[in-house]
Amino acid sequence: ASAESGAPTIFDKIIAKEIPSTIVYEDDKVLAFRDISPQAPVHVLLIPKLRDGLTELGKAESRHGEILGHLLYVAKIVAEKEGIQDGFRVVINNGQQACQSVYHLHLHVLGGRQMKWPPG
Ligand code: 5GP
Repeated sequence: ASAESGAPTIFDKIIAKEIPSTIVYEDDKVLAFRDISPQAPVHVLLIPKLRDGLTELGKAESRHGEILGHLLYVAKIVAEKEGIQDGFRVVINNGQQACQSVYHLHLHVLGGRQMKWPPG
């Protein structure tokens, strides 16, 4: 995938349940599922079901405010459901230099171990 591409991503197939994932939260607007390559005991990906131009956070426009706010709120719900409210991290990798690999906006919700700061 490239940052400019509006091409479908693997997340479309996960949303459509054409490929399996372990879903931890779902509502009409967002889906949260376990990362296939977890970097912490809890590693959940949280995505808007409708990409609506949000290949990456850097494409956000004013009209995306509602879904962006909802994603952050649901990140907290996911952390609570996963029992990591004592400490968790929410990450958005934006673009090549930040190691974004899937061009459908997603929040990583990470927890269950001691984190380090700054990240690599
Ligand atoms: P990025 O590097 O773009 O911020 O994060 C993409 C994430 O998607 C990676 O952590 C990667 O492990 C995860 N991922 C890629 N393909 C799949 C898949 O088919 N299923 C699941 N559950 N996660 C995936």
